[in-house]
Amino acid sequence: MSSDSNQAASHPALEHVQRILAVSSCKGGVGKSTTAVNVALALARYGLRIGLLDADVYGPSLPTLIRPEDPTLYQNGEGMILPLEVQGLKVMSFGWVDPSQQRGAAILRGPMVSQVVSQLATRVDWGELDYLVIDFPPGTGDIQLTLTQQLPIDAALIVTTPQQLSFVDVVKGIQMFDTVRVPTVAVLENMSYFLCPDNGKKYKVFGEGAKQQLVDRFGIEHSFELPIDPRLSQSGDEGTPLVASDPEDEISQLYFNIAEAVHGEINRLTQEDPGIPKLSYNVGQNCELLYPDGKLVEIAPFDLRMSCRCAHCVSESTGEQLIPAEDVDPDIYPTEIKQVGRYAASVKWSDGNCASIYPYSYLEERFVQSK
Ligand code: ADP
Repeated sequence: MSSDSNQAASHPALEHVQRILAVSSCKGGVGKSTTAVNVALALARYGLRIGLLDADVYGPSLPTLIRPEDPTLYQNGEGMILPLEVQGLKVMSFGWVDPSQQRGAAILRGPMVSQVVSQLATRVDWGELDYLVIDFPPGTGDIQLTLTQQLPIDAALIVTTPQQLSFVDVVKGIQMFDTVRVPTVAVLENMSYFLCPDNGKKYKVFGEGAKQQLVDRFGIEHSFELPIDPRLSQSGDEGTPLVASDPEDEISQLYFNIAEAVHGEINRLTQEDPGIPKLSYNVGQNCELLYPDGKLVEIAPFDLRMSCRCAHCVSESTGEQLIPAEDVDPDIYPTEIKQVGRYAASVKWSDGNCASIYPYSYLEERFVQSK
């Protein structure tokens, strides 16, 4: 959760990005992109430096929601794409890279999608940012999970609508982020009610939402409701998000509340979270697991190799060790160590036999607590 964690990420383009916030939803059409752009603008109006990446390569909507004067993309001397700048945000969308996408011509398959998004995030010269807000592709499947593994995401904001089944959707979203140790800091129930202009009454068109259940089951204190309001769809169609065109509007104020809660919660978690450790190896020595508080745990490369839990090394059904210790070179050593999201390190080994992924929680259990 700390800025250090991102600086440890192996993506030079994200080196000066302090935090990454994913805006996610289980389904399309719930108002995720509208939320991402308005929350990004609200954060920027608090004086924070904000980037916004539209990661929905199947249906990029940022080029409709916000319109830079000149959407031509340029690259810097190092071949990095320069983000477009509009309304004080640095923005990027696949829709500007390949404008044919706006005509619905996308035929990318799943694994390609996460690769393209990851490249978009890491090949853009974001410069110094307090937040990179990522408008996630809708859903909680492989694409989304891969993205959370490829990019060091710090927190998630989940957008939903109050239909009957949507609580299940939110739970799926929270659980997906949970598996990769990304905390869900807020939930927005969009199109939650209709405020009748004639009598000022609130009508819960889709029934009651699940606010209290979120607090009770997951301790998510920050859940918000936003009304159905034609001004939101109209401002979206016109390319001037409400927070930019009318920051004083009461709906804009709700986006400011969300931005404030998200920022506050992330700050709180940053203070609580000791940050993620870093696994490294110096030739001829032990592997080192270094925690941000300075705690250092040495692990012999052979012991680390023997702790691999991949399907090649351990039976998924019985948990039985499939590789006998005598079959492993006692002088084995890591040839590459990479950070995986915020929750693990991946290691390639000198015998080339397997690529291990070690969740930090597993390393902690195995090598730290026993010390
Ligand atoms: P998603 O990113 O989840 O697919 P969008 O943000 O593109 O959804 O929103 C879908 C449509 O609903 C857009 O036309 C948008 O302007 C509209 N919309 C979003 N939120 C609201 C709202 N609270 N009231 C009215 N229209 C909304």
